Amino acid sequence: MAAANYIGRFAPSPTGALHFGSLLAALASYLDARAHNGQWLLRIEDLDPAREQPGIKADFARVLDAFGFEWDGPISYQSDRLTLYTSALHQLHEQHRTYPCSCSRKEIQQRTGTHQYDGHCFNQLPKANRKLATRLHCTSGALCFHDRIQGTRCHDLQQESGDFILRRRDGLIAYQLAVVVDDYLQGITHVVRGCDLLNETPRQIQLQNYLDYPSPCYAHIPVATNPMGQKLSKQTGATALDITQPSQQLFRALQQLHQSPPEELQRADVNTLISWAIQNWQCHNIPATEKKTAPLPE
Ligand code: GLU
Ligand code: ZN
Repeated sequence: MAAANYIGRFAPSPTGALHFGSLLAALASYLDARAHNGQWLLRIEDLDPAREQPGIKADFARVLDAFGFEWDGPISYQSDRLTLYTSALHQLHEQHRTYPCSCSRKEIQQRTGTHQYDGHCFNQLPKANRKLATRLHCTSGALCFHDRIQGTRCHDLQQESGDFILRRRDGLIAYQLAVVVDDYLQGITHVVRGCDLLNETPRQIQLQNYLDYPSPCYAHIPVATNPMGQKLSKQTGATALDITQPSQQLFRALQQLHQSPPEELQRADVNTLISWAIQNWQCHNIPATEKKTAPLPE
């Protein structure tokens, strides 16, 4: 793989339209990449056809384009890359890092009172005549990493979540495996994304360690919330980005990222705003958490 100084990415899932929270993640990762003269890739994480909103994938490029984003190379789709994930799974299997699991969510809940996996099938054979998931056996003890915004974080995967799924019982590849394989094969050096994925990061680092992949540098930005303090997401019904007024929302997003865009850029077009933002990008201005909920654009 060609060594590059900086390759970043934006990796939306096509489960719903891009919203203001997606714009923040896209913008922070884009500005950080361009301010480092880096590349920025667009990857669609479409591993779960049942959760996909029809037609939305094609919309992503149109919306990002309207907001002035320019990605490098062709858009990649995880649904095209299944053999790559299967071979990583095979590699982990050969290293005895994985094991089959027949437990349903309900069984886990009944045994543990939580969703945390108790290692049941690590210690005994899975039930016969059941569909099997594949789990990764995690290390216990502190796994630490440094985040450019959140600082140093340490997690004990066994204590916090237990062995996690790489391939579901219905055969679908889990997000954790796909994201790690793609970040590696696409040469991603820097991941900038929402804080909602911060707790997923130690699991991804565990996989990178097992697969002997280098870990990218991580930066997790505070997530946007609605006036009720709920995380903006497709599940909380966040409003889709309006491509008829991109500059207004970009300006607002720059403020939310604590980049202090000058007032005179309020009415600037997207290209002017983006160029200003690349030249003046200050990742360290972003706080680890948002103290008060800023009003969102209509
Ligand atoms: N596809 C994930 C999402 O939309 C993001 C993956 C990532 O940035 O690692 O939440
Ligand atoms: Zn099990």
